[in-house]
Amino acid sequence: MTKRALALVVAALVSAIGFIGTRVMPAHAVDEPRLLEERVFGTSVQGRPLVAYRYGTPGGVVVMVVGVIHGDEDAGLLVTSALRTLSAPAQVDLWIVPSMNPDGTALQQRGNANRVDLNRNFPLGWAKMGEPGYWQYAGPSRASEPETQAMVKFVREIRPTLGIWYHQDLNMISPGTGFEGRVRARYAALTGLPLVRITGGRYTGVAATWQRNVGEAAMAFVVELGPTLSAGEARVHADAVMTVARMVQRASR
Ligand SMILES: [Zn+2]
Repeated sequence: MTKRALALVVAALVSAIGFIGTRVMPAHAVDEPRLLEERVFGTSVQGRPLVAYRYGTPGGVVVMVVGVIHGDEDAGLLVTSALRTLSAPAQVDLWIVPSMNPDGTALQQRGNANRVDLNRNFPLGWAKMGEPGYWQYAGPSRASEPETQAMVKFVREIRPTLGIWYHQDLNMISPGTGFEGRVRARYAALTGLPLVRITGGRYTGVAATWQRNVGEAAMAFVVELGPTLSAGEARVHADAVMTVARMVQRASR
């Protein structure tokens, strides 16, 4: 290489480095995610709308996130809010339901306005449990509540491959088996929640268990948040949702 050619190469390098060095790049070059659809899929006992927000790719792998089912366990709202600021992974059809129990949140009680525990009211394996006033009152019959009926109809329509349901405040995730077990373990590792098996409880009419049985190879799990959740922690959970959504999408190809 001649001296002149070397000088040209050096000049080109300096220019390239200079160009890179002066480019302004935001830390996260993320576009505001585009809301594809805002669907009112039902109405609560007291007339509040049940709303689902759709992002990502219609026709992709369907992932549903439900922020609240027990009204006074509402930290999941911070996660669903954070999720709505992030772009969904490619080929994921993301449905975000901030709350299926807005009356319970307004009243700061576990059940809906009829004081029915909606997470004991789903039609799979429903059993009579308690009387009105009992904290896990399962309602007078299976799927007796308008919120449950609306969610049943909505899920049967969108058929999620993965559903994530937020609760408080046991601060844990139950381990699963097979691929769903790996998805749960990944979510737990990303958020620092321990994988702990719940023992001793008798659970009937549970939403996630019902949802897992809608559609082929559907998955669902419960995230038990702690008593409080900071905005930063909510963002960690939202990122974990996107990571496991990508994992499920890749596995489905
Ligand atoms: Zn709960």
